[in-house]
Amino acid sequence: MQGSYLKVDGLTKRFGDHVAANDISLNISRGEVLALLGPSGSGKTTMLRLLAGFEQPDSGSILLDGIDLTQLRPAERRFGMVFQHYALFPHLTAGENVAFGLSDLSDKDAARRVAEVMDLVDLAGFQHREVSSLSGGQQQRIAVARALAPNPRVLLLDEPLSNLDPTLREKTRTELRTALKEIGITTIFVTHEQEEAFALGDVVAVLREGKVEQIGAAPELYENPANKFVATFVGRASSLDGTMLENGRVKVGEGVEWESRPAAGVVSGAAVDVVVRPEHLSFGETGLAGVIRSVRYNGARAYFTVDVSGENLEVESSVHSASVGDSVRVSASQAYTFVKQPA
Ligand code: ATP
Repeated sequence: MQGSYLKVDGLTKRFGDHVAANDISLNISRGEVLALLGPSGSGKTTMLRLLAGFEQPDSGSILLDGIDLTQLRPAERRFGMVFQHYALFPHLTAGENVAFGLSDLSDKDAARRVAEVMDLVDLAGFQHREVSSLSGGQQQRIAVARALAPNPRVLLLDEPLSNLDPTLREKTRTELRTALKEIGITTIFVTHEQEEAFALGDVVAVLREGKVEQIGAAPELYENPANKFVATFVGRASSLDGTMLENGRVKVGEGVEWESRPAAGVVSGAAVDVVVRPEHLSFGETGLAGVIRSVRYNGARAYFTVDVSGENLEVESSVHSASVGDSVRVSASQAYTFVKQPA
């Protein structure tokens, strides 16, 4: 197993009574891209600022290659940072922006390095362009090039693509991932979008209220969520109440039992949270009785919202299988069951 390059150990940061980072530990291998994914207020930016050195933790440590950086000032850490709004200097050219952190180099060496990193972000020859004349995606890449120019040991990105419109975002995401992998730079980025975390990250840490709920590669998080929060935040899912049965199935209604994948701690007879993905639900002759309340089309498939005794279940099915107002029965090929969490 590859050893960890960046090691975060028990990092805690309080703002008054509020614990913005709560005993966070992470191990990141050299060259790995880690996504910090979580809803607003979950502590993503706080984590990035702690790593960058803009905030000091109340406890815990940050080690790079075995050396403790926790007390070092931001510049001493030699990390690169790309801010959400890029923070480019509008009165400077693209090349001058990229050269900003290279004042230690001779003009000739700086120019060579600028050309090198601009090539890496696929903007070779754009040195003399005014920043304001560049598209959003190009400005984003200039910001990445500027952070990469001084050869940082770790790259930190704060919501790197949130300023771009959706079509550009997808393209830039692919380009950014290619560039990061080509350079082999250890990267941590923050996002609240699952798709972005999955597309850019090798590993995703899901944050909630300052804590890491689960960390893993995308398929692991999607297929084996550790709890109800991860199951519903990562990918689409509906949840309902159930009772765990002795036969390993879960009872979700009178005479309705579904195959279940019980999480750690679930015992038979317990009241559980049942979480099910739209692709695992289908309409049929048996199952939970409900009424279709709405439908959202997506190509040949559609997502139906079905009201089952006041709970909404999202069912993925073929477009022609049902319409709004229909009474239906819903069954599941698979569902997750979790120990009930307080609402
Ligand atoms: P968002 O996606 O909205 O940017 P986030 O996940 O990045 O959210 P943080 O900005 O890290 O979350 O904030 C985590 C919590 O800590 C929030 O409740 C926030 O109000 C609080 N917080 C962050 N910085 C400070 C500060 N300087 N003073 C007081 N509270 C703060």
